Amino acid sequence: MNFQNTLSFARTMDEQDPLRKFRDEFLFPQQNGKPFIYLCGNSLGLQPKSAREVLGKELDNWQNLAVEGWFEGDSPWMFYHKELKKLMAPIVGATPAEVCPMNTLTVNLHLLLVSFYRPEQKKFKIIMEAGAFPSDQYALESQVRFHGYDPAEAIIEIAPRAGEYTLRTADIIASIAENADELALVLFGGINYFTGQWFDMKAITEAGHAAGAIVGFDLAHAAGNVPVQLHEWDIDFACWCSYKYQNSGPGGIGGIFVHEKHFKDDTLNRFAGWWGYQESTRFKMEKGFVPEPGADGWQISCSQVMPMALYYASLQIFEAAGFMGPIRDKSKILTAYLIYIIDQVNLAIGHQQYQVITPGNENDRGTQVSIIASGNAKGVFEKLVAHHVLGDWREPNVIRLSPVPLYNSFEDVFLTGELLLKISKEIAI
Ligand SMILES: *Cc1c(COP(=O)(O)O)cnc(C)c1O
Repeated sequence: MNFQNTLSFARTMDEQDPLRKFRDEFLFPQQNGKPFIYLCGNSLGLQPKSAREVLGKELDNWQNLAVEGWFEGDSPWMFYHKELKKLMAPIVGATPAEVCPMNTLTVNLHLLLVSFYRPEQKKFKIIMEAGAFPSDQYALESQVRFHGYDPAEAIIEIAPRAGEYTLRTADIIASIAENADELALVLFGGINYFTGQWFDMKAITEAGHAAGAIVGFDLAHAAGNVPVQLHEWDIDFACWCSYKYQNSGPGGIGGIFVHEKHFKDDTLNRFAGWWGYQESTRFKMEKGFVPEPGADGWQISCSQVMPMALYYASLQIFEAAGFMGPIRDKSKILTAYLIYIIDQVNLAIGHQQYQVITPGNENDRGTQVSIIASGNAKGVFEKLVAHHVLGDWREPNVIRLSPVPLYNSFEDVFLTGELLLKISKEIAI
């Protein structure tokens, strides 16, 4: 596409955007009556306008039905999660039975590792990406120790080559193959939170399976951002938070995926609780755990209905938008436009003040663009915020900007570039 660095071009793109009406479904933060250009959906998605009503309905049910709400009313809480499962499944390319909303992300990662990290004498190692989100590093280290191994020996981190920021798929696959004899698990992010690199999940899964390992993904930055196909790619398990690209609110409920091929495996360990018990007989309260088939069998505590209601409000918007197909179509162009605009800023400055470290190939990224800023990077970031452009900052010098297809426009991207150039001229060069 031939982009132009003009307001009229951006506005024309917005007029032609089939998703443009969804912007109006969200609430934008404001300061002094002026809304922010919000490019931070990679960290916390915006509040859907419908969230208050969908949550309010359950507050009303609680008020009017109290304990009877579990089985009475038009959406009894006992079955509330089933409506969410139907809408979560197409977002991650799964069957409804393979997904379940529950807990929060790192908690779910631990619970799934209980089932799927099964080290044996010689096969006990885990391969992960270097520079994974810290919570994932801590979770894996503590799991490894829990099984009596030393993380320094058991965890193999794959790092980019010298002078590079992102991983080469060939290097990941080679490392998996080299360590096959000792490998129990491959655990990767779908998209790396720092660089925005979308890993070749299918190729990694195939390589992991060829090495006789289990393969799981943390989809915190991928779910609702890029069209993953967890079932078809034969991924063993995955988990995600829903408050980033899926707009479920701070601390929103997490989601898990367990591939259907594992449903009947009764050798899997799991930390059980009553809500994972077979639904039809759960309230007989009998001794001896019988899991509900599917991902639901990993539930422990009773449904978190209020956080689910917030997630449900956002999932309904995904449904109305046609799920990931149309979202991805817009995302590719919108993100490419942001990268183009940053190039234009560099051209106007006369040198590469802002270096995009997110992969240049659209198949290797989602919406997020990570930029290493030289000069007074922190100052530039703070001035962007002061002028109502909200991205996020990662030490020591990285600005992450995520134009989210459901609520960001081409005009947002154009205006961000214009402002970035102005600020750079003032303070950064
Ligand atoms: C955001 C994020 C988390 C956060 O985990 P919580 O348990 O929800 O606090 C964990 N891992 C990754 C990769 C993330 O991007």
